[in-house]
Amino acid sequence: MGWTSTDNNHEGYVAAIAPDGRLASGGVAEGMLVHGITGEYKPGGESDEEIVPDDLIMSWRGACTCGWQGEVWQRVLTPSEADFASRKAYCRPGDAAYVSLPVEDAVQDEWMIHIAPSEAILGVEAAVKEHRQSTRRLDKTVAAAKAAGASWADIGRAAGISRQAAHERWADK
Ligand SMILES: [Zn+2]
Repeated sequence: MGWTSTDNNHEGYVAAIAPDGRLASGGVAEGMLVHGITGEYKPGGESDEEIVPDDLIMSWRGACTCGWQGEVWQRVLTPSEADFASRKAYCRPGDAAYVSLPVEDAVQDEWMIHIAPSEAILGVEAAVKEHRQSTRRLDKTVAAAKAAGASWADIGRAAGISRQAAHERWADK
């Protein structure tokens, strides 16, 4: 049901918000599941869960396993009150307390912005890895050229640096 980042460090979802502020981790037929026992609601399937009846859910927000939380969407009970721009989402009384698909998409878009830095960092990590590998290959080919009798001047020319610079970089390796 959630969205997962490429590095698996983030899983986002739309969480129903219980009247006491707890975020639901999912839903069952009778309502939304929240962690923790207050005695206020019926126990859920797991020992540390309660079921908040759907009609008591009056808002939602994006949530992520890392702790990030998105903007709050208020529940409105008539279609005429619904307003996407001010995050008022229509959910009929008596219905399971889920947001509509467009609202879910909007929350996902918000979550994508949240994970954008860590997704972009993956590109840096991949480039650094490639860079290290090619540096190692360069060192090996230089050693092979030297062993085959090439001079520091030859190696410097091939590498686009001076004889002296080539010597300083590779003589000890
Ligand atoms: Zn996250």
